[in-house]
Order: sequence, then structure tokens, then C-alpha cells
Amino acid sequence: MLETRVLIVGGGPAGSTIAWSLKRAGISSVILDKAHFPRDKVCAGWVTPAVMQELEIDVDQYAREHVLQPITAFRTGLMGQDPVQSEFLDDPVSFGIRRVEFDDFLLRRCGAELRLGEGLKSIRSEGNHWIVNDSIRASLLVGAGGHFCPVARFINDNKSPETAVVAQETEFHLSPEQRRRCPVLATTPELFFTPDLKGYGWVFRKGEYLNIGLGREDKHKLAGHVERFCSGLTEAGRIPADLPARFRGHAYLLYSHADRKLIDERVMLIGDAAGLAYPQSGEGIRPAVESALLAAEVIRHCGDDRSVDGLYPYLEEMEARFGTRQPGGGLIELLPMRFRQILASQLLKNQWLVKNLVVNRWFLHRQDQALKQHDPQPDLELQNPI
Ligand SMILES: Cc1cc2nc3c(=O)[nH]c(=O)nc-3n(C[C@H](O)[C@H](O)[C@H](O)COP(=O)(O)OP(=O)(O)OC[C@H]3O[C@@H](n4cnc5c(N)ncnc54)[C@H](O)[C@@H]3O)c2cc1C
Repeated sequence: MLETRVLIVGGGPAGSTIAWSLKRAGISSVILDKAHFPRDKVCAGWVTPAVMQELEIDVDQYAREHVLQPITAFRTGLMGQDPVQSEFLDDPVSFGIRRVEFDDFLLRRCGAELRLGEGLKSIRSEGNHWIVNDSIRASLLVGAGGHFCPVARFINDNKSPETAVVAQETEFHLSPEQRRRCPVLATTPELFFTPDLKGYGWVFRKGEYLNIGLGREDKHKLAGHVERFCSGLTEAGRIPADLPARFRGHAYLLYSHADRKLIDERVMLIGDAAGLAYPQSGEGIRPAVESALLAAEVIRHCGDDRSVDGLYPYLEEMEARFGTRQPGGGLIELLPMRFRQILASQLLKNQWLVKNLVVNRWFLHRQDQALKQHDPQPDLELQNPI
């Protein structure tokens, strides 16, 4: 039987970040992931400088061995309407990474014991501990298994399903001929909201790769929306007509629309397992990283009290960082659709509003400072393995 204080189910950005942060505090952990790494993840692959800062990644060093596409502008619009260009003259406001590289980089450096290629099959309680897969004994279970996390399902057993964003994406290497013909600039991702405002599509070039996708908070006829989006882009000559790769689908929950439990006795959820993506953009890597850092801090201070009361500060920290959830929808969602469409159409024609509200606030979250890491010195009294 493998014994550990913290068992983390899922080795994506949430799982590797909590392990990395715990390790710095002298707390060892085990990560269980059903995939072998490097593994890909359906994602556009934008990360903001705040994420790189929180993860203490030296961007120049990272760029020497991985794709790291600096972003200095955005083209944003409503489908069927001319897009507006927002330029940023200072440092890059965002970066493009490839998840197959980024997640592997984070996992390899995190310092946890890795059990890869092993899915979670069983969880049972024994005294004050969890026994997972009949082979790992842990005093705390962290659910970091993404949207379909089995730990999230385990503690939210009787809950009705929340409305998820469903998305499809493809990423492929551009041939030299495709690179020559493709007018999409690598520094300038393009975003197009759907006319019913239930989602948006994107075209994003990262070095020699092109990423195209579309996500909607409505799962009906997603493939049709993706097809129409791609035909429009092909007709406009913005993407190659011969897309070589198939589209792959995935889902995620927006923070405001999720209402699942984030903690239970000796259990915490982080990242997509907790349903944390930013409501307007669907960005989920930053909330995954930040929830992991906040959870690590609570684990560090809760000592042996891993009860709901002991873990409660995590809920308080999450609410302080991400706000109060509104599963019923916010004020804007109460407005009639036609009214919202007219409003959006006007908003997305206005250069100042697009740059300052849509890009800066909604997509880049520049108003939120990077989360400060607490003192990384090990807590000596917490170094016991279990
Ligand atoms: C199409 C699309 C585009 C996106 N674009 C962006 C973007 O550009 N920028 C951004 O910030 N966010 C984006 N997101 C959201 C982002 O991908 C997620 O928020 C992020 O991956 C969450 O990280 P995580 O570690 O919580 O989960 P994940 O990255 O999903 O990792 C979960 C891990 O758990 C493992 N796992 C799952 N089930 C089990 C099991 N039963 N047993 C063991 N292991 C298991 C998986 O193998 C996986 O490695 C996008 C999402 C989609 C769908």
C-alpha cells in the first residue's frame, strides 16, 4: 500500500500546481492520472502573463524549448460583422502555449510521486483515510481530474447536472505553403462571437501551429456551428480549405453557473473539477492554477483537521478571489435576447469598449493582479508523510 498525506487525482495544470506548491511547503503528494504524459488537452492554449508569474516560469527559458507565442493584439467581432483590432504596444498581454508541452513541463517539475496511466477506479473510507484503487492510502483527496473528475462526482452524488460550455477545437502544424497563405498573424488571435451570444469561435496561430475552435453554453448542434464558422473563415481566405486534423470536443463549467460542492470531509476540488472557468472568456488555466495555490495554502495551515470545518477557509478564499456564484444567471442574462444582441452588436463595433471591456477585462483579466505566493519555506511540523 502506497501511503501519502495528499492524493491528487489529475495531473493537469490544477493537479501539478497544487503538488508543486505543497512540495515547497515540505508536504509530499502523489498524483494519479489516467493518461501517460506528454498528453494533449483540448484547448486554445492562451495563458496570461499572470499565470506565468504565479507559476514562476521564466518565459525566455521556457521559450527556448517550447512553443511560446507572444500576443500583442486581438481582432474581435460578431460573426458576420467587421472585427475591431485592439493593439497593445507594451509587453505581450498574453501567450500561446501548446498543452501537450505545457502540462508535461508543469507535471515533470512539480515534485510529486507520479502514478501515470492509471485511472481512478475505487474510493473507500477507512478510519480517517481514503483507500484509492485498493493500493493508495491518503488522508486528503484532491479532485483535479478536469470537467469529468470522478472525485467531483463522488462528493456531488445527487446533484442535477449544471449547464456546461461545450467546445470543439483542432490544432495542427501548418505546411510551409499554408504558412505563406494564412493571413492570421501569430501575434493577433481572432475572436468572433456567435450572433445569439451563446459562445464564440477563435482562430489562433502559435508559431507554426494553427488552432481553430468554437465553444457555446448550449450543446445543441455544436458541430453545425463549428462547420458554419469554418466555412465563413475559409470563404474569407483566413484558414486553409484543407484542414488536415479532425475537431475534438470537451466541456467546462463557468464559475458563475456551477453550484457544486468544493469541499467535503477530507476532500477538496480544484480547477475544472470545481467548475471555475471565467464566465465571459472560458479561460480556465488561470483559475485552475489559482485554486490550486489557494488550496495548498489551506492544506498547509489546516494541520490534522481535514474536516469540512478545517477546509472551510478554502471556500472563503475562493469567494474572495472569484466572487459569489450566481447559478441562476446574472442581471444581463435576464435581458431579452434581441435586446442583448443589439447591445452586443453596438458594443463590438466600438474600438474603445472592445479594447478596454472585452479584451482587457473579460479576456485578459488585467484588472486582477497575479496571486501572491505565500512564504514558500517548508513547514517543518507538516513534513510527516501521512
Ligand atoms: C476547447 C477549449 C478551449 C480552451 N481554451 C482555453 C484557453 O485558451 N485558455 C485557458 O486558460 N483555458 C482554456 N480552456 C479551459 C482549460 O482547458 C481548462 O480550464 C484547464 O485545462 C483546467 O485544468 P485542470 O487541471 O483543472 O484540468 P485538465 O487540464 O482537464 O486535467 C485533468 C487531468 O485529470 C485526468 N483525469 C481525468 N479523469 C481521470 C480519472 N478518472 N482518473 C485519473 N485521472 C483522470 C486527465 O487525464 C487530465 O490529465 C479551454 C477549454 C476547452 C474545452
